[in-house]
Amino acid sequence: MSEKTVARATPDSGRVPAGLPTKLQHYIGGQHVDSVDGATFDVLDPVTNQPYLTAAAGKAADIDAAVAAARHAFEQGPWPRLQPRERAKVLQKIADIVESRDQQLAEMESYDSGLPITQALGQARRAAENFRFFADLVVAQTDDAFKVPGRQMNYVNRKPIGVAGLITPWNTPFMLESWKLAPALATGNTVVLKPAEFTPLSASLWAGIFAEAGLPEGVFNLVNGLGEDAGDALVKHPEVPLISFTGESRTGEIIFGNAAPFLKGLSMELGGKSPAVVFDDADLDAAIDATIFGVFSLNGERCTAGSRILVQRTIYDEFVRKYAEQAERVRVGYPHDPSTEVGALVHPEHYDKVMSYVEIGKNEGRLVAGGGRPKGFDSGNFVAPTVFADVAPQARIFQEEIFGPVVAITPFDTEEQALQLANGVKYGLAAYIWTNNLQRAHNFAQSLEAGMVWLNSNNVRDLRTPFGGVKASGLGHEGGYRSIDFYTEQQAVHITLGPTPNPTFGKEKPA
Ligand code: NAD
Repeated sequence: MSEKTVARATPDSGRVPAGLPTKLQHYIGGQHVDSVDGATFDVLDPVTNQPYLTAAAGKAADIDAAVAAARHAFEQGPWPRLQPRERAKVLQKIADIVESRDQQLAEMESYDSGLPITQALGQARRAAENFRFFADLVVAQTDDAFKVPGRQMNYVNRKPIGVAGLITPWNTPFMLESWKLAPALATGNTVVLKPAEFTPLSASLWAGIFAEAGLPEGVFNLVNGLGEDAGDALVKHPEVPLISFTGESRTGEIIFGNAAPFLKGLSMELGGKSPAVVFDDADLDAAIDATIFGVFSLNGERCTAGSRILVQRTIYDEFVRKYAEQAERVRVGYPHDPSTEVGALVHPEHYDKVMSYVEIGKNEGRLVAGGGRPKGFDSGNFVAPTVFADVAPQARIFQEEIFGPVVAITPFDTEEQALQLANGVKYGLAAYIWTNNLQRAHNFAQSLEAGMVWLNSNNVRDLRTPFGGVKASGLGHEGGYRSIDFYTEQQAVHITLGPTPNPTFGKEKPA
């Protein structure tokens, strides 16, 4: 047996993480509890598609209990009344614990979601960074006082809002939860988290981490369950004044409608179909490396995936040939294998959806790489990195979010044409530009309908920058101070400091 064969992981070789639970409950008011009606749902292992876990299936009664606990902690508990630096100490401790358990967290996440272990590890570390970042930010946060000497002063009281409802998707679940939990908690809110039903495992680890870090009981509450039950009840709960949601655009529309009668604060991070635009003066190798990573990392289950590549015709044939060759070399493998670059898609339902787009693509474009199951993987949710060239802008694989390792490549001649193609979809989350012409890069960026643009860059992001999309990709931005704004009430206070011209309504006027 060759060394390569020995190193290759199989579905059974050390795949199951130590301490993997078989049952998950809700976490309400510091207690692990079953659903009020005892209902559960099965969670599947994406490699075998066998149920490995049953989770409590929350409904309105469970959401009521969680909101009551969070409301009680908000009204009676110490958390909202602590100084920001005291809350920040707890957040730093949370970050320490997450960092010290990053391997365990990554193993659980990778097992549950099918993400490659090395990428799940990166996401666990990013979750710790989120807590550190918002701990620092909330301490540094100062609102200006505006003073007119001897006349008046104005200042801003920043207050936590109350019970924040956090609804999260199944792609990079732990990191995306941290992205909402860290600012919501840093600013003194209490929370009810409703994680995605496909991947509830890593969310269940928060309870232990928070308790160990000293977060008071009732501040963090978690209700598992389906979107149409637990998620819906959370959105419609009158004592939850704000909802931070990440998920599909269609779900965002439903939540928007359900939250409207309450005029809730809403933050919506939704779907995408982001373009990567490659001009003929770009560094071709760098552009290929980044655009391969941009759509195949995280199994292609990445909201900011550059899933449409627009390439200037002068370099089109060379780009497509090199891109397809490199895509064929991307290593599909078992999620726990450290050499894996693309793991298993999260769930058979999602796998079927992605595979249906692969079939649609065969009639809409020229298949140049992948196109089905990778060799050697006869079961489980494995998809070969798939590349379609010559895709027309009206094609479904150009217009619709696939959310898997599938990319559409389209040629363009002029900058105007590239812009039209880039903006010609309903989404506007991210965009990537590859050119060595600085003026063109900045002008083109400005004309793009996208919340985030990367110039000659991989998908890197400083936590201080705004994150969010335009058009069907979202509503509002989080990130840096924008998250602090979203999770706080800003109350302006105005004071007269000395004699000011008094209003004279109803007074005798001098003759
Ligand atoms: P989804 O919309 O199906 O589910 C997201 C969450 O919403 C889940 O917890 C689900 O249970 C809940 N939900 C579903 N219906 C609900 C309802 N009626 N009321 C309340 N909650 C409900 O999305 P998904 O399939 O889990 O995630 C993939 C999607 O998320 C993709 O479209 C992707 O682009 C998007 N996403 C966006 C970002 C971003 O920052 N823009 C980041 C990650 C993922």
